[in-house]
Amino acid sequence: MDSTWDRILLHPTHASVPRLAVSSCLLGNPVRYDGSDKKAETVATAMAYHCELLPVCPEVEMGMGVPRETIRIEEDDAGNRLLIGNDSGTDYTPRLQPVLDKRLQEFRELGMSGFIFKARSPSCAPGSYPMPNPHASDSPEPTYGLFTAAVRDHFPLLPMIDEEQLQQHHPRRLFNLRMYAHFRLRQVFHDGPSTTALRAFHAVAGPVHAAMPNCCRADLEAALEDPRTYCHRLLGCLREANDQEAMDAAIRFLRKAPPGSLSV
Ligand code: SF4
Repeated sequence: MDSTWDRILLHPTHASVPRLAVSSCLLGNPVRYDGSDKKAETVATAMAYHCELLPVCPEVEMGMGVPRETIRIEEDDAGNRLLIGNDSGTDYTPRLQPVLDKRLQEFRELGMSGFIFKARSPSCAPGSYPMPNPHASDSPEPTYGLFTAAVRDHFPLLPMIDEEQLQQHHPRRLFNLRMYAHFRLRQVFHDGPSTTALRAFHAVAGPVHAAMPNCCRADLEAALEDPRTYCHRLLGCLREANDQEAMDAAIRFLRKAPPGSLSV
């Protein structure tokens, strides 16, 4: 389901900074299987400086406790992915759905603008869990943790990153650009769908257009009478941004607007 438009229009934001959901262990909370944390200063300090962070630990919320056995992702004969205990062989997957139901609803209502999740975790990894490859045992296939896969499917246009990518210049820039674009669109439409508000934003959003591939700009112009399509195109095109200077200028532009203001 791709309903980013609903997230933007039905849940406009009056928050003053973007909200991000974050793997709790990255914020220094001792929720890992062995009672330790994985505090990442880039997340716990740098991102906390300009974003509101919501800690999430799917495994604790599934009632697995701390300490707990480690788990892995396994695929059954029908191709379903399961969370299996490494010691007991317990299938923990049924416990995940209630956690997802609660958290996805909360993410919608709070108006998340992005996600920072723990690399390589069977629950949290945003694309870096090393799934064993039955055809080549020495080259696992990177995949999503089961919690994160559902979040990605539900919020396909929102940026998602892990703490390791966040330390690299381009992925961090791209994440910030997409996060602020989403946050800004929610502000633009804080009074509901409006082509007037959209045109006011578009008229001054030159720095954002400059950060997009050339082929995207005409598509945006063509969507000015249809805010839904405009939002989808803008957020989709920004995935392809690559010019580092233009991206920095766009981030500065997107961060500047006062909360809830249509003026820029
Ligand atoms: S990676 Fe996710 S599930 Fe594991 S401890 Fe951190 S927050 Fe919890």
